[in-house]
Amino acid sequence: MSVEYRRDGAVAVVTLNNPPVNAIGHAVRAGLMEAVDWVETQEGLSRVILTGAGRTFAAGADAREFDAEPVPPHLPDVIARIEASDIPWIAAINGAALGGGCELTLGCRYRIAVPGAQIGLPEVTLGVVPGAGGTQRMPRLVGLKAALDLIASGKPVKATRAVELGLIHGIADDPVELATHLDQGTIELTHRVGAMENPAPEAGAVEAARATAARRTANQVAPQRAIDLVELSTRTPLAEGMATERATFLELRTGDQARALRHIFFAERAAKAPDWLTAEPAETGTVAVVGGGTMGAGIAYALLNAGRSVVLLETDADGVELAKANVEKIVGASLSRGMISDAKADDIRARFTASDDYGAAAGAGLAIEAAFESMEVKKTVFAALEAALPADAILATNTSYLDIDEIAAGTSDPSRVLGLHFFAPAHIMRLLEIVRGKATGNRALATGFALARPLRKIPVLAGVCDGFIGNRILARYREAADTVMMDGSTPWEIDEAMVEFGYAMGPYEAQDLSGLDIAHANRRRQDATRDPNRRYIPIADRMVELGKLGKKTGAGWYRYPGGNGKVDDPIVADLAIEEAHFAGIERRDFTADEIRERLLLAMINEAADILHEGIAANARDIDLVTVFGYGFPRWRGGLMHYADTIGAARIVEKLTALTAEDPLVWRPSPVLVACARDGRSLADAT
Ligand code: NAD
Repeated sequence: MSVEYRRDGAVAVVTLNNPPVNAIGHAVRAGLMEAVDWVETQEGLSRVILTGAGRTFAAGADAREFDAEPVPPHLPDVIARIEASDIPWIAAINGAALGGGCELTLGCRYRIAVPGAQIGLPEVTLGVVPGAGGTQRMPRLVGLKAALDLIASGKPVKATRAVELGLIHGIADDPVELATHLDQGTIELTHRVGAMENPAPEAGAVEAARATAARRTANQVAPQRAIDLVELSTRTPLAEGMATERATFLELRTGDQARALRHIFFAERAAKAPDWLTAEPAETGTVAVVGGGTMGAGIAYALLNAGRSVVLLETDADGVELAKANVEKIVGASLSRGMISDAKADDIRARFTASDDYGAAAGAGLAIEAAFESMEVKKTVFAALEAALPADAILATNTSYLDIDEIAAGTSDPSRVLGLHFFAPAHIMRLLEIVRGKATGNRALATGFALARPLRKIPVLAGVCDGFIGNRILARYREAADTVMMDGSTPWEIDEAMVEFGYAMGPYEAQDLSGLDIAHANRRRQDATRDPNRRYIPIADRMVELGKLGKKTGAGWYRYPGGNGKVDDPIVADLAIEEAHFAGIERRDFTADEIRERLLLAMINEAADILHEGIAANARDIDLVTVFGYGFPRWRGGLMHYADTIGAARIVEKLTALTAEDPLVWRPSPVLVACARDGRSLADAT
């Protein structure tokens, strides 16, 4: 039974029981309606306590039902019955009450939560608005401004904040117990939320909420529509407001943005070890991290925060001191942002050591190497790790581009070697590419996947190639951008086109942040193997020659006078004109649409090749990589989900047209051609 109910004297207890998170699907709604009917048959009841089984009250509607027609009973009707009941319902919020779960509590006369409960209406993060009265009852209960904050941001609040807001009446370790003994007069004095007066309009509150939503969730429809609804609550009767809310919810939930956000939501939850990977992971209580620079320090902190002990290895005493300072900087920043407590910071420090002696890591079951990006350095490090660590320790590299098979071949047991590719900053970015070399054993892979969960990372399996999944697509994106620049555009026009598409920043501003030197070193490494027939754009090389390495040198594709605020740089525009002249190219204007089309087609085609070569297992994994590692707009569902909204046939048509310009660069990938031919989506291509 998804909803259980029982009677204990004058008290009835109704329990949501739909593991794992008591999602409010059809069975729960039907079960609740049955419970409401049952309550009405009972004589002598003083109250009904509504709670959840397990650690969650209810995490929201069941988003899997959003693609189909809604089936009655509908949640607004269930809540209306609860609210109208003569016998008061009390919400005993035993854990998260989100979305429909929160709306259920708003139908109750009294609300008590456990100290750790999270309460909120996160619907906009799935591209919809609350659909069961949230936008109308919440402002009546907590006032306009607080409701706007809660609903337009989608961010839940903790129990203590919920009390301050007047969203709940109290906090108790055992809310069912407290609800059972609550004074009857107290309950009966409370009002039905739906019967409360309209919230007072507050000057400027709606405009401020709109501006915040436009900044934080640019291009997204749901937050603005949610604000419309909350604003409506100030001037319409409940029933009217709820009818508009329901219509908006039903309209948005089948729209492109909601579909895309649902796709990413489910893809994130599905990101785990593949079913065939049944090997036992290695023990990772102590992890060795090699290199305490940008990446090593971030990885060490992520491990420490997840309860691991870390031994950080550096080349010499100075390196050790620098590494310690780098890790301490992250501990300090996390402390000052309130992300960890003082006690947790001390605990982290107690589990951290740094040394220039590999012997210090003799007990580690896993090593993650994040030293310089050089094959020679990596081989030396792996030899030292092999000598110092237990014979069955797993050895991982965080290399961005280097050939993991070559690194593994230098060890005596390549089955222990894999790639664990983190993204900067490693303690914040959620993506983790788990790179499987040709000799990588299942135990090593299982160790990588097992580590992802405590680190709260999204693991994606990748094969070995230049750049794996993400950086390979990135390289193609940049190549397409450089080509457009050479042929007639500017970095700022290109950046603006991609920001309009939904990226937080365009490719040139992003490169200025990470530094032009990394990609440059990469191009030099690739010189020996680059197809001589492929067009090469030398503008970035000229930038490096001029010392324009990005923000860190005060100038890159943009200038940063005084270290901040980017300014267009005419010298860069001139460089492109000059190089085009040398190459005999007649430059022409590109519209923003043309720019976007080329950059996106280039990425989609590369991603299709990545599927074709088996570097990624499926399109969903590429969506995760592009959204969680590279800033592809989440509300577009990731690169391949977006490609499917265009359709393989149309993409192949566009690519084929571009082959007239450059047959090598724009040749349509075999996967796209096959999907176009068979009328299949990329989501179904493997
Ligand atoms: P970094 O220069 O900031 O740090 C490298 C550190 O390694 C330095 O502190 C150096 O002293 C240390 N080191 C060098 N040789 C060593 C050795 N033999 N033993 C122990 N320590 C040694 O570099 P980074 O940006 O942290 O990059 C490290 C690795 O991570 C590279 O392979 C890089 O490609 C990869 N990576 C970087 C990023 C990024 O955005 N920076 C992202 C993903 C992966």
